[in-house]
Amino acid sequence: MLTLSGVDKRYPTGDRALTNIDLTLPKGQVMALIGPSGAGKSTLIRCVNRLVEPTQGSIRLEDTELTKLSGHRLRHTRRSMGMIFQEYALVDRLTVMENVLSGQLGYVGFWRSFLRRYPQEAVVEAFRLLERVGLTHALDKRADALSGGQRQRVGIARALLQSPKLLLVDEPTASLDPKTSRQIMRLIRELCAERELGAIINIHDVALAQQFADRIVGLRTGEIVFDGPPSELTNEI
Ligand code: ADP
Ligand code: ADP
Repeated sequence: MLTLSGVDKRYPTGDRALTNIDLTLPKGQVMALIGPSGAGKSTLIRCVNRLVEPTQGSIRLEDTELTKLSGHRLRHTRRSMGMIFQEYALVDRLTVMENVLSGQLGYVGFWRSFLRRYPQEAVVEAFRLLERVGLTHALDKRADALSGGQRQRVGIARALLQSPKLLLVDEPTASLDPKTSRQIMRLIRELCAERELGAIINIHDVALAQQFADRIVGLRTGEIVFDGPPSELTNEI
């Protein structure tokens, strides 16, 4: 479903962040991207959601070539990728429910959110997702009244409300304690299986990656140095 072929990224500063990356992410697969700081993990995720433009190569999501998109088609395609962030990126003064809905409605929804006018189907689906992530008791709480784990559950529900074709997850547990980190990784894994969603998870915690990913890709100075199941990962990576 997602295929990167010969992807290179060189920043204008001269930093070579990715070199000749070939990867295919099938439906339903949870791929953990590991590697030391500066290895190119964020750059790879940003090339897929096109916050960064690759210098060379092809990135296809189903039938769409992502590297050639711009304007309205780029915005449209970006919405088919669910983003989950380390710092959750919630709007503090909005409620849990409003935060989930704000993702689906995008920029237009920002104004709609003031008017409290949401499409009925979106509200029903948001409620269902909040039930799935275990937050129905907190629908009306402001985002800034939640714990880190709860905030990440809101982030996950928000990403799923757009019915994404894949999830791009940037250090989802870096701000969480170990037990909550495992709960969040388990939840992401279960949701990917239930919805046959592929996920790329940028994560520095190798033990968590091994426990919850189907596949591990190790990056080092912009190159893939490991690609295989968690059981085959050795300490040399
Ligand atoms: P990671 O996420 O694995 O820490 P990054 O993708 O952030 O790695 O960085 C890969 C390389 O690209 C590093 O050498 C980094 O300094 C460089 N880099 C990242 N972002 C930029 C940028 N916006 N401009 C210039 N160089 C960058
Ligand atoms: P991460 O490793 O999670 O990407 P960093 O602290 O490396 O976090 O990067 C934070 C921000 O700085 C990112 O937006 C990244 O693109 C940018 N950045 C990283 N390295 C460089 C660099 N060498 N020159 C310019 N910007 C950079």
